[in-house]
Amino acid sequence: MKLETDYLVVGAGASGMAFVDALIEQSSADVIMVDRRHRPGGHWHDAYPFVRLHQPAACYGVSSTDLGADRIDALGNNAGMYELSSAAQICSYFAEVMDRVLLPSGQVRFLPMSEYRLTEAGEHVVTSSLDGEEVEIIVRRKVVDATYIEPTIPSTHEPAFDIDPGAVVIPPNDLVKLRTSPAGFTVLGAGKTAMDTCTWLLENGVDQDSITWIRSRDVWSINRAWTQPLDLAESRARFNAAWLEAAAVSRTGTEMALKLEEMGIFLRLDRDVVPTAFRGATISETEVEGLRTIANVVRAGRVRRVRDGRVDLVDGSIDLPTDQVFVDCTASGLRTLDVRRVFEPDRITLQYVTPGFACWSAAILAVVEANVEDDATKEHLALPVVYTGDVDDLLSFTRDYLVSAQRRSEVADVRSWSGRTRLNPARGLRERLSDPQVAGPLDTAREWLAPAMKNIEERVGPAKDLV
Ligand SMILES: Cc1cc2nc3c(=O)[nH]c(=O)nc-3n(C[C@H](O)[C@H](O)[C@H](O)COP(=O)(O)OP(=O)(O)OC[C@H]3O[C@@H](n4cnc5c(N)ncnc54)[C@H](O)[C@@H]3O)c2cc1C
Repeated sequence: MKLETDYLVVGAGASGMAFVDALIEQSSADVIMVDRRHRPGGHWHDAYPFVRLHQPAACYGVSSTDLGADRIDALGNNAGMYELSSAAQICSYFAEVMDRVLLPSGQVRFLPMSEYRLTEAGEHVVTSSLDGEEVEIIVRRKVVDATYIEPTIPSTHEPAFDIDPGAVVIPPNDLVKLRTSPAGFTVLGAGKTAMDTCTWLLENGVDQDSITWIRSRDVWSINRAWTQPLDLAESRARFNAAWLEAAAVSRTGTEMALKLEEMGIFLRLDRDVVPTAFRGATISETEVEGLRTIANVVRAGRVRRVRDGRVDLVDGSIDLPTDQVFVDCTASGLRTLDVRRVFEPDRITLQYVTPGFACWSAAILAVVEANVEDDATKEHLALPVVYTGDVDDLLSFTRDYLVSAQRRSEVADVRSWSGRTRLNPARGLRERLSDPQVAGPLDTAREWLAPAMKNIEERVGPAKDLV
């Protein structure tokens, strides 16, 4: 069988959904979406049950449709801030968007349970995982790779260490299935998943001394209180001003992180250890306070082997009581990606063109695709903002976003869409420009912009176009 379309979008996760939603709003293009999963939503289908978005739901998902009800939480670790959706809410949201927005538009067809491959002859072939039927898809314009920033998550990754037969190693997903209490919990990993896991254990009454936390390195996190939209958008204005000031006065990424910590934006768990990693994790101060109560922190490099009652690490071994449950939180989440051009003659590769906002990035790329004619100009507007995970890349990371955003702001259609989309994390700022609490920090941000760019270019050089 053969089908024909303008755009073949491979992947119906957050990136693919946000891209298609914006593309059909901006053009009359015909689209076929394929995914090997049974429903849209991507990795959220396999997430641990207590996961939440890092960022407020108010700015996540697709541009056309609200996620959540823009409520401010009254209780818990997110109290006083905009609500964060759970994985179940996100999956059900994307299914609704498919059924109520994309398919009824008449511009979109969706093939679930379908594996995409490019044949050696250059044909786009999709195979059903249920009946094996192969469909060749003739693409009139472009294939959109919406799989490129697919994160690595605990329940589907292969641990990079050996596990002895007697050792109980589980992903955080399986914690909720425990029916007998173990002698203790050993959490493996330093990132947001490990933080979420330790927080969940503490919230559920596990004594902090029963938790051993193996952290191969320490990470910087962003204080969520500074990233709020709508009625709390003043925080975003102050965030922008502080970020640019830090970028203007720092010689290295580590200096910039320390400066951001001084201003309250960056958080670390251990005040005696300067983190070397930054992956954009966002956390609240109450979570940090809770996590700081865990005293059994082991820093001896990465895990090599787990046995019942013992862990071998790159820089030594530790003994633990037997009958431990080891929770594997070592999947890297955001993977370090090779920089690839976003716009090629036959292919669009969805990547971050904003600092860590997957949906906003994908939707921006759809708006650029729909409104700009030639690929060189499109690429010029879509400089990838790459996370390496290394804090010393904070300066180049900031530069690439500033350059990319500045270029897009010069294109009227893109600028006006960016100003009104719900995906913009600065959502709500425009409507509050007469409020001095918002206008003041925005003026400060404007003043720091040129010194920040000058300093960054002196330290790490100018941004490089990929064309
Ligand atoms: C715990 C966690 C919290 C996060 N919180 C935020 C947040 O608050 N804000 C934010 O912006 N980002 C956040 N992220 C980053 C996250 O990566 C994005 O939000 C987003 O969900 C990624 O979506 P994606 O579509 O790029 O990838 P995925 O969700 O992985 O989707 C890719 C899809 O492609 C399909 N696929 C792959 N290969 C093929 C093939 N050959 N054929 C058919 N289908 C294929 C897969 O089945 C999958 O459904 C978070 C990530 C994690 C892990």
